[in-house]
Amino acid sequence: MRGPVTFTLDLEDHRPDDSFPLRYPTVMREVLAFLAERNIVGTVFVVGVVAEAQPDLVREVAAAGHELALHSWAHTHLTDQTPEVFAAETRRGKALLEDLAGAPVVGFRAPTFSLVPESLWATEVLAAEGFTYSSSVLSAPNPLFGYPGAPTEPFLWPSGLAEFPAPLAGIGPVHMPFLGGTYFRLLPWPVIAAARRFGDVGPAPWTYVHPYDFDTEERYWPVPDAGRLAPLLWVGRRRALAKMDRLLASGAGLPLRDRIADAVAGGVFGPATSVAPATVGAGAAATATSPRDRAEQR
Ligand SMILES: [Zn+2]
Repeated sequence: MRGPVTFTLDLEDHRPDDSFPLRYPTVMREVLAFLAERNIVGTVFVVGVVAEAQPDLVREVAAAGHELALHSWAHTHLTDQTPEVFAAETRRGKALLEDLAGAPVVGFRAPTFSLVPESLWATEVLAAEGFTYSSSVLSAPNPLFGYPGAPTEPFLWPSGLAEFPAPLAGIGPVHMPFLGGTYFRLLPWPVIAAARRFGDVGPAPWTYVHPYDFDTEERYWPVPDAGRLAPLLWVGRRRALAKMDRLLASGAGLPLRDRIADAVAGGVFGPATSVAPATVGAGAAATATSPRDRAEQR
């Protein structure tokens, strides 16, 4: 166990279409109340089109003291985008959130952890657009997007962008992001507690959830991203908030924005690491370095 867990949430509208009841604003306000009662502030990654559709909700999130960060403009996987379109959409989303928050927006999370070897160009675009950190990598095999071989601890991309990979825990070769999403809802509390206590979750762990993780009233629909596993998205929702309460009971970490300075000052960014598998051929963009190593290179 190293470092308190930062609460992070991805604010998105995952309904298949507008014929489904609009649930996420209500659930998000319940989550905001839950956090306020416990004096917890975290990082909320907002999809651009959600900010456009629900500006008052996003203003409420910011007014409650949470960091606003960007979760892409329209939840398009990075692997389905070009650098040019991604740059334009990211600029638009950042400007909108900054307008709503009245504060700089410096964090980004890729939809479905789609920052993988094929989409490493995004780390250059994000740095150029003024982002200081990303929280977009799942350093393990995954049915959707995973980046086995990427560092499991915070590190810097060659562009200077900091990366907070999803905290993992596991036994032997099997590692899973137990602090978020379906894993968090499915695993019984004693397993999460043990993983938190005995697993090596890194110096700046964070939990990631969505409004739907807590929504016990949403009717079922087959989420295409989840494929055959879609029904699992509805499992464990009733107990999710109580589990979150226990996870954060011993004190929550600061928003990710505020952990970068601490992480750099404390030297907790990982050692120099080659993050791209040799088969990808991503060339010069494939090496990440720690602040310490960057200093030595100067
Ligand atoms: Zn998402």
